[in-house]
Amino acid sequence: MEADAIIIGAGACGLMCAVQAGYLGKKVILLEKGSKAGAKILISGGGRCNYTNLFATDEQFISGNKHFSKSAFTQWTVADTISFFDTYGISGKEKTLGQLFPEDKNAKAIVDLFMELCADFGQEIRCNAEVTDIIHREDVYSVTYQRSGKEYTIKSAKLVIATGGLPIPKMGATDFALRFARKNGLNIIDTAPALVPLTITGKEEEWYAQLSGNSVFCEVSNDQISFEENILFTHWGLSGPAILQISSYWQPGESININLLPHEDITALLEEERKQNGKTLLSTLMNRYYAKKFTDAMSKYLPVDKQVASLTKTEMELIHRTIHLFKVKPAGDKGYDKAEVMRGGIDTAELSSKTLECKKMPGLYFGGECLDVTGWLGGYNFQWAWACGFVIAQGI
Ligand SMILES: Cc1cc2nc3c(=O)[nH]c(=O)nc-3n(C[C@H](O)[C@H](O)[C@H](O)COP(=O)(O)OP(=O)(O)OC[C@H]3O[C@@H](n4cnc5c(N)ncnc54)[C@H](O)[C@@H]3O)c2cc1C
Repeated sequence: MEADAIIIGAGACGLMCAVQAGYLGKKVILLEKGSKAGAKILISGGGRCNYTNLFATDEQFISGNKHFSKSAFTQWTVADTISFFDTYGISGKEKTLGQLFPEDKNAKAIVDLFMELCADFGQEIRCNAEVTDIIHREDVYSVTYQRSGKEYTIKSAKLVIATGGLPIPKMGATDFALRFARKNGLNIIDTAPALVPLTITGKEEEWYAQLSGNSVFCEVSNDQISFEENILFTHWGLSGPAILQISSYWQPGESININLLPHEDITALLEEERKQNGKTLLSTLMNRYYAKKFTDAMSKYLPVDKQVASLTKTEMELIHRTIHLFKVKPAGDKGYDKAEVMRGGIDTAELSSKTLECKKMPGLYFGGECLDVTGWLGGYNFQWAWACGFVIAQGI
């Protein structure tokens, strides 16, 4: 045995696990396929790393078992994340909606911190080491990896698989965890890109090309959930935080509803304006709520150059429908190249929620994005990865 545990994947979960194991005096070896650890942390939040969310609870996670994450989040709370980073000089600043970023540092500072702590605890990180096989025999895990054209096998009684999800294959994302789970008879919940832009094709494409470049505060909803944030119209479809959020709840073939003016009633506004000054143009009224370029783009669909007093009943209904009941049927999503996370993954029913140990394979732990626990946009996914890392470290 070369260490108390082998951790496959030096991402958010694997690194936190190694550090927490270090606090407990346990030695681990991290095997990382990439040339450096924490690659996704480095690009997260536009290089600034939205490392947690002040309001994170198990409620903002999608999973076949929505109670599964509760235990991990009780063991490692948002306050724990904040104080962990704070202890090492990374204090948080809320950007919006509880999203916490390093106040005067960036994502690199977070990765550097993990590197320093791993070095202090003597946790060995082997980069450019892609794990290709695992054999489990007599309570020992033999892990085979390729490095510099050579093959190595190391053994441990405890093994952590923290190889992440499928997004951004060009950064080295693999389906290793899913393949290994499947091979060993563990159930997988269907996977799909999540927190991903949605595409539009066909007749509607013209609409979006017209509106391309506009970012509008909206309420986006389907029959499960609604989000109030900005959406971004592009020449191929829809993006922006509200769209990324709803994409995690969207299935191909379904429509989504967009309310382009969630806190007002356009019909009431028009009627009030008619009383005050019927000569006001619809465009003038719209410009009070939208950027001029959005109103201009809408001129193709709405009678923006008409005075509000002269709008017919049919036009009033059209305006109401367009502003409040804008229904879109996306053709698809932008796929794993553009997704921030993967929905689905290893079925949580295969694991103990308290320890994240695999029920059928003692000594084996899964953590982070490879599990069927998917957070909202806004720091939730890192909170899950840190929590998994902490919980697993207690068990190994
Ligand atoms: C562009 C982008 C921005 C994001 N921004 C945020 C954000 O601001 N806030 C937030 O909360 N979340 C964000 N996320 C999501 C977040 O990055 C992930 O949820 C998180 O990194 C998952 O942690 P993990 O440890 O499970 O996996 P990862 O961090 O992906 O780590 C897995 C590691 O395993 C390695 N690996 C894979 N297969 C093998 C193998 N066979 N052998 C050895 N190593 C292997 C990979 O190279 C990788 O380094 C973002 C994601 C993307 C793509």
